[in-house]
Amino acid sequence: MLNLFDTYERRVRPFTPLNPPEVKLYACGLTVYDYAHIGNLRTYIFEDILCRVLEFNGYQVQHVMNITDVGHLTDDADAGEDKMEVGTRRAGKSAWEIAEIYTEAFKQDLAQLHIHEPHIWCKATDHIAEQIAMIQCIEAKGVIYRISDGIYFDTSKLDDYGYIARLNIEGLQAGIRVAMSEKRNPTDFALWKFSKPDEQRQMEWDSPWGVGFPGWHIECSAMAAKYLGSFFDIHCGGEDHIMVHHPNEIAQSQACYGTRLANFWLHGYFLQLDGLKMSKSSGDFLRLQTILDRGYDPLVFRYFCLGGHYRAKITFNWQAMDGAATALQRLHTAVTQWPAPTEPDETYVTQFTNQINDDLNMPRALAVMWDLVKSDLPDGVKKATILVFDQILGLGMVDWQAEAEQPIPEAVQALVGRRQEARANKDWQQADALRDQIAAAGYDVVDTPDGPELKRRMARA
Ligand code: AMP
Ligand code: ZN
Repeated sequence: MLNLFDTYERRVRPFTPLNPPEVKLYACGLTVYDYAHIGNLRTYIFEDILCRVLEFNGYQVQHVMNITDVGHLTDDADAGEDKMEVGTRRAGKSAWEIAEIYTEAFKQDLAQLHIHEPHIWCKATDHIAEQIAMIQCIEAKGVIYRISDGIYFDTSKLDDYGYIARLNIEGLQAGIRVAMSEKRNPTDFALWKFSKPDEQRQMEWDSPWGVGFPGWHIECSAMAAKYLGSFFDIHCGGEDHIMVHHPNEIAQSQACYGTRLANFWLHGYFLQLDGLKMSKSSGDFLRLQTILDRGYDPLVFRYFCLGGHYRAKITFNWQAMDGAATALQRLHTAVTQWPAPTEPDETYVTQFTNQINDDLNMPRALAVMWDLVKSDLPDGVKKATILVFDQILGLGMVDWQAEAEQPIPEAVQALVGRRQEARANKDWQQADALRDQIAAAGYDVVDTPDGPELKRRMARA
């Protein structure tokens, strides 16, 4: 039995698909005005684990993810600049070009982290007509109003607006009288924003209300409903979406279809930098490439993320990455030494399954994995069992074996030969320089009485 924490109900509850064996899942995608930062990637690793666990339970997952390539303003209150226009200015390219560039970079990040791609990618700019149609549907229900800069959703018209966030609407009304512009209620949000008369926008469209662009929230409600229906199994995103984006997606869906859009709402908690929030708009953030440039295997970051429960914030630092690299290295050494897999051990598989099905408890699942590694089961059984675990862990252990059986590349062997010569000539400086080159190629040299041995490495020293 799979149990998941549903933010909507604020409790762990048993998961059953609305239409088994199919599970329809929507994940809020990246805003492609810049590279993904490692915080974003943590959320996508969490969603990947969720999909793998659902599949492990025998369900067929239909996974949809959007690409936000328009209309996402720099702050949650429908103020500030359009992020795409900001990205354009920085990169000196058109909004369409930067969306393309960062979408491709994002897909490469996902591949390097072994995150399975969604079955359907949908771009906001490809679905303007659907968004307009949904705003018209909401308009027909009488919950929108027009002010000078756009068309807004009147949140006071819903009885339980903000329920998922447990918002105290009365408190908000009393507290935020200032800076509300012409909005009727502080929680009202834009469905359609008008282009300013004096402004030449790169991305703007005609609409029944005037030329402009869709608000931030409408794309997810419209595209999720298009691909998954107006009430589907799971909607997920990062914890920041609990307060604004998801209440608004739900409000739009309630107005238009009378549903809360998804049966389960799941949220991944933030990756932070020593207590600081990582944000793209602050301009200062770490991306996967930063980690690769420091010589780590991308899977060290995946392993690092698996070490924290998705409902707990985790703090990123290089010391923690080194710890993850060492653990992964140990795992790699163990797994590649084991012979061909025989039969998995059912007791371990059950223990592991209990942990992943307990609201995706990956830290505990990893502990079960290490118990297995240290156990005195026959190595072939360990191998078969860990390959089952890796369906969820996604560390690519099948390839570790293949790669261990592959000969060391000739170029690396040549470096080892030259290092042996340098050592014979007592040219220690040259020998050390060659060791560094071998490390850069992904191998560690261990000098043994029988000569040098090579081990694949997960991080540069
Ligand atoms: P964005 O590109 O800002 O729309 O964010 C893409 C995804 O990353 C969303 O699901 C966010 O909730 C999530 N996210 C943003 N910042 C972080 C962070 N520091 N840690 C984890 N997830 C994040
Ligand atoms: Zn969304």
